[in-house]
Amino acid sequence: MLTIALSKGRILDDTLPLLAAAGIEPTENPEKSRKLIIPTTQEDVQLLIVRATDVPTYVEHGAADLGVAGKDVLMEYGSQGLYEPLDLKIANCKLMTAGKVGAPEPKGRLRVATKFVNVAKRYYAEQGRQVEVIKLYGSMELAPLVGLADKIIDVVDTGNTLRANGLEPQELIATISSRLIVNKASMKMQHGRIQALIDTLREAVERHRA
Ligand code: AMP
Repeated sequence: MLTIALSKGRILDDTLPLLAAAGIEPTENPEKSRKLIIPTTQEDVQLLIVRATDVPTYVEHGAADLGVAGKDVLMEYGSQGLYEPLDLKIANCKLMTAGKVGAPEPKGRLRVATKFVNVAKRYYAEQGRQVEVIKLYGSMELAPLVGLADKIIDVVDTGNTLRANGLEPQELIATISSRLIVNKASMKMQHGRIQALIDTLREAVERHRA
């Protein structure tokens, strides 16, 4: 059995056509089903539906052989325990700092609210800047509005969410897309099969982009 971990939403929507190109189609709609293990048209391939931030955990520990995760999630998780063989070039966005429109840089220690705590610490450490990182789980845009933080770090697509809250994108930390990730032991044990899937997906990505 080959097990692929995916999260619902954007990543699932964009990954299913790529898997279909490899002849792998879920036997029921994962967006609608309450099932967390979804069989596919290939008897020996199944999908696991997990939280986006949990995809690397399932794959690193071998509960899934493969997974699809945003580069943002991988940067935060730390991907040294995983192989990342293919950029799927889907769910594209940017990881950015943002702050209130026109607000001056604060004089003292910068307070940054984010769910990307590790990314934030690394980013400001590289700049030699002292910051207080405040962990949030969602609605980051609120933090500068109510004085919880000076800036946020979040993924930005159109920037509409920032603008709707009086914030502006500021510094680009990384351009983000979803990546295929592979468990290291699975890559050795099922090398032929996984490499064939990677090759088919790579062709599907290139066709999709062309
Ligand atoms: P925006 O288009 O910038 O207003 O983005 C809408 C919301 O979706 C924001 O809260 C972003 O955090 C989130 N978002 C946008 N693109 C992605 C992506 N590729 N992956 C995960 N979250 C995203």
